[in-house]
Amino acid sequence: MQLHHVRRLLAAEPALRPGKSTEHAAGARRVRALVERLARVERAPLDTTGSTTSLRDGLHHERLLLTSPVRGSFHGTLLAPPDAAPGPAVLVLGGKNARLDQLTGDVPPDHPDRNVAEQLARAGFVTLSFDHGIGGSLDAGRRAGRDEGTLLAHAFTLTGRSLLGALTGDALGALDLLAAHPLVDPERVGLFGHSLGAAVALHTALLCGRRGIPLCAASHLGSYQALFERLLTGHEGAVLPGILEYADLPDLYGTLAPAPLQLQYGTADAYLEPADARAAAETVRDAYASAGADPEIHELAMGHGTHVGHAADFFARTLAAPAAPGGDVPAQRIHFEVAERRAVLDRVDAALASGILTQGPQVARFEELARPWTGTGTAAVASGSAALEIALRIIGVTGRTVLVPVNTFFATAAAAVRAGAAVRFVDIELDGLGMAPRSLAAALDRHPDTAAVLPVHIGGIVSPALDPVLALCRERDVPVVEDAAHAFGATLAGRPAGGFGRFGAFSFFPTKVAVSGEGGLLSAGSADDLEQVRRWRDHGKSAQGSTLHDRPGGNWRLSELHAAVGTVDLERFAATLAARRTLAARYDALLADVPGLRPHAVPATAGSNYYKYLAYPDPDGPLDRALLKKRLRERHGVSLAGEVYDQLLCDHPFFAARREQDAADGAFERARWFARHHVALPLYPSLTEAEQIRVVAALRSELP
Ligand SMILES: *Cc1c(COP(=O)(O)O)cnc(C)c1O
Repeated sequence: MQLHHVRRLLAAEPALRPGKSTEHAAGARRVRALVERLARVERAPLDTTGSTTSLRDGLHHERLLLTSPVRGSFHGTLLAPPDAAPGPAVLVLGGKNARLDQLTGDVPPDHPDRNVAEQLARAGFVTLSFDHGIGGSLDAGRRAGRDEGTLLAHAFTLTGRSLLGALTGDALGALDLLAAHPLVDPERVGLFGHSLGAAVALHTALLCGRRGIPLCAASHLGSYQALFERLLTGHEGAVLPGILEYADLPDLYGTLAPAPLQLQYGTADAYLEPADARAAAETVRDAYASAGADPEIHELAMGHGTHVGHAADFFARTLAAPAAPGGDVPAQRIHFEVAERRAVLDRVDAALASGILTQGPQVARFEELARPWTGTGTAAVASGSAALEIALRIIGVTGRTVLVPVNTFFATAAAAVRAGAAVRFVDIELDGLGMAPRSLAAALDRHPDTAAVLPVHIGGIVSPALDPVLALCRERDVPVVEDAAHAFGATLAGRPAGGFGRFGAFSFFPTKVAVSGEGGLLSAGSADDLEQVRRWRDHGKSAQGSTLHDRPGGNWRLSELHAAVGTVDLERFAATLAARRTLAARYDALLADVPGLRPHAVPATAGSNYYKYLAYPDPDGPLDRALLKKRLRERHGVSLAGEVYDQLLCDHPFFAARREQDAADGAFERARWFARHHVALPLYPSLTEAEQIRVVAALRSELP
């Protein structure tokens, strides 16, 4: 082995240093995102399949059999002080050689400080610890000196994952379990880890979403370079493969700022270098200083151990009151599970290896997966805007009028302008937020040259008013193009969006309910129409494969790489839709007794996909929307989603300047009321029930 390479390999200067960043919060966000990516944690809730409760030396003692889909079953022990009221709790993560029954004091500890879980329970905290399953040693002769942890770490590496990620996944599950225990106050939960357990506790703190969670980490301080040189083997389980390219261990601790942090290290610890640990402590202090906080760092005359007294003092102080509320609730979260990310990478890799980067098998599969959701044939295109423009080009709208609801995204009307039409706006109705049939009838009368009508399914609601809209267009033989950019998977009377008009145009932009990065789709009942789409999207070729062009088509193709993302997202779409509907029903229930906010009542026949969960703050209330949103963000960390929309299209400078509209189009009073008064609550499949409760609590406290 060329050991002299080791130092050179480890000499990398990490690219992300939250402490040095001018803005701590932004640096910390980047590090958390990186850890999330490298850890590839498979989050799976732990089930308790059995428990036996007893009283041991005055402590409430629960022996649990835990099951996770990732790991199977393993043991855990919950200890609680005898007084029954829900109190503060600590998840105790032992080092590599710490056995569960030693942590809990069920057998005499091999070190005086080993029974941390028992000592913290005697100090007044509920503790949970579990068997990490890597402490056992193997027959040295047969395994060439490697132990179970090393073998597991290598096996995880072979499957593209990490042992630390797996251990962190267990700890995240255990943390949820602990917080949900009847003896625990869920707002007062902390993390303790020793050695390898400290690495797990650190990564758990970074990923758990409880931003203020107190962490005490013992005997785990230094640079990765120094720790690795000391240990050489056995440390595989304590690092994320690839981390050193971006951040060193002290940077990870610094990322936790301003959450309460206690670090303990011993000057007689054979596993760390005191000078290096001191330098690491400085880095952590710098990062905390840039977040306006102070870590608590103890240099102690001890070996590779724990000072349980300091730990107990730390938790007594930091868990005395509920922690600052958990992480922010963002307006939007685009989330792919580890397995889904791997599937995307695999498909991208297959495309790269085959050299087919556009219009290949991924695109064909994307179209196929979309079909059941539209109930029609489908053709994939580069974007939702391209879909709209192609449909209008096929219909042929040049020099004529296209009618568009005045409340929609700019792209609806801009596509008509690009296709050569004059745009006229139509007011909406307030039940399903569709085009108002009477306003449409008037507009059709005023503009007998109307070439197409573009209803938009705002917020994922296919309005029951679409039926009269379709009837009006049918009477006059005007084709309908549904702008279904919001409405993938939505239905009206059981029929899918995109199947009502001659065409349906969908978008797979990241903010929509189904995504491919960039991407769009046309649905159409006619095979000939779909064939025309395929020619328009490919530079207007006169036939597939021809080099002759007979129309001014464009490059409106979807790439294989985008389709790789899109296929993975569509494969999970049934679950996405079910999750969105469950979340919406829960908001309905939670908001029932919030008098200051009225949810939009989705019409009974509309099967919304809840692209937006719309609601109306009391119009006579004291706060305008901008101030409400600011207060929710600043006081509660809750961001509302974007409106659909806050400005009418006729008021955007581009259309205002065109002066196509005239007084006869009306004042759009209903659309104006809607644009001014609605809000959209955060709603995405990874939103948790706890987060929804926080959103509603925040609204309740700001809306009297
Ligand atoms: C997003 C959106 C579009 C445009 O889709 P892109 O894929 O971004 O081109 C068109 N119409 C509406 C209503 C949209 O929300």
